[in-house]
Parts: sequence; C-alpha cells; structure tokens
Amino acid sequence: MADPNIIAVANQKGGVGKTTTAVNLGAGLAAQGHRVLIIDLDPQGNASTGVGNPVKGRKSTSYDLLSGRNSLTETTVPTSTDGLFLVPSTSDLSSADMDFSSRADRIKLLKAVLQGAEGYDYILVDCPPALGLLTVNALVAADSVLVPLQTEFYALEGLSQLLMTVREVRQGANQSLRVNGVVLTMYDGRNNLSQQVEADARSTLGELVYDTIIPRNVRISEAPSHGLPVTLYDPNSAGSRAYQALTKEFLSRQKEMRN
Ligand code: ADP
Ligand code: MG
Repeated sequence: MADPNIIAVANQKGGVGKTTTAVNLGAGLAAQGHRVLIIDLDPQGNASTGVGNPVKGRKSTSYDLLSGRNSLTETTVPTSTDGLFLVPSTSDLSSADMDFSSRADRIKLLKAVLQGAEGYDYILVDCPPALGLLTVNALVAADSVLVPLQTEFYALEGLSQLLMTVREVRQGANQSLRVNGVVLTMYDGRNNLSQQVEADARSTLGELVYDTIIPRNVRISEAPSHGLPVTLYDPNSAGSRAYQALTKEFLSRQKEMRN
C-alpha cells in the first residue's frame, strides 16, 4: 500500500465546518472503499464524538500520540463507520502548546509519528480553531490543507492569515505542502450574503474553491449527537448529498494533482 495522503482540515476560526467536513469527507471516502483515519487534534474532541466515540471511552489520545507515550496503533480505534478509524482527543490536549514548548522538535511531533503509518489511504487531521502549535504540527505533517470557509461576513479576512501561515510552513518545515482547496460551508441560497461571499471567494481564490457547496442543513447539525456522519444518519438529506458530491470532487482533484 502506498503512503497515506495526509490532509489537514484547518481554519483558525471556530464554527466554520472543519470538524463537520473532516467527519463527513472521511465517511464519504470510507464509503468509496478507502481506508481513512481521522486524527482529532482539537481539545474539544468534537470529531471524536461525531464518529461515535464518547468522552468516557477515550483512553489513549492524540496527546499521548504527540507526546510519544503511545504509538499510532495504540491510539487508533474503529468508529461507527466501516473503514473509518479515529485517534480521539480529550481536553488534556489544550495544554499541548505549553507542555511541548521546550522541545526542539515541537512542530514535527505529528510528522514523526505518522512517518511510516501504514494501512490508510487518507489521514484527515481535524485542527483546533487557532494557528498555534497543534495546527502547525498538522501543516508540517500534511501533504495538503483543506480549508472550510463559512459563507458569512468576514469569512475571507481570516483566510489571508491562514495562507500566510501555510506560506511560512512551506518556506521551512514542509516545502511540499499544498493547498488542497477551499470548501464553502453553511451556504444559504436565500441569503444575499452567502451569494456575495461565494462570488468574492471565487473571484479572489479562483480554482482553489471547490465547485461543490455545502448548504446549511439541519441534518448535518443533528448527526453528531447520534455519533454518525450525516451520510449514515440521513443518507438522502441535502447535507448528505452535498458531502457525497464533495467526496467525488475531492477524489477527482486528487487524481488531477497526481498527474
Ligand atoms: P469547526 O470544527 O470549524 O469549529 P463545526 O464543524 O464543529 O465547526 O461546525 C460548527 C457547528 O455548525 C456545529 O454545531 C455543526 O454541527 C454545525 N454545522 C456545520 N456545518 C453545517 C451545515 N452545513 N449545516 C448546518 N449546521 C452545520
Ligand atoms: Mg472543530
């Protein structure tokens, strides 16, 4: 099996759809027959909950993985979805920035533990809402970064900061890092603002913006409380269909990138 393709799902803003995209793209890829690992790198642990891993059951976590206390195999657990695996997180990860601050290799902790990771086609890293050490670790370890962008006022403002961080990482610890694309989320077609943000994003970022748009859909927000991706919770909902379409577009972009 080839090396896994590692994708950081990042945006320093909270509530823009990072976790939702990591979980549902992950489930979409798994449904297509790929083996997928989600690494929850957010102390809030929403991705862990979202794939059916309750707080109480979390023994070995992404903190243990980064600290070197446990191996990738030891921290990985199956999820409610066939072919989808998880490294869960707990709130102890919130002290990672400080705990690892004196280590010379602190931005390469994730890269080091993923080196030689076997048995996965894709590894999706769900980043916390900050550009701190955890997100930098994800960017250093990743082949590409996928950026969910909520179609809201100010959406594009935070983006330049993120892209600047990506540039810094490319100039240093990970020269082959690419921007996979920008996914517009929580789109409301009846809202002029959503349409305006989409137009701005497409004119500013061009090809980087996925054709597929994720609509605001209540099924998407209900699914995590059942520990299921929306594609299993309500397969025919608009939200499920959008994430299936995103999965297809993601895969065809992967193919293009390889050529
Ligand atoms: P982030 O990980 O960037 O903080 P989340 O993926 O957790 O963002 O999304 C924030 C909240 O919005 C969550 O409650 C989630 O269920 C909800 N949400 C995300 N995407 C959608 C959508 N397309 N439609 C409706 N609710 C959504
Ligand atoms: Mg999140």
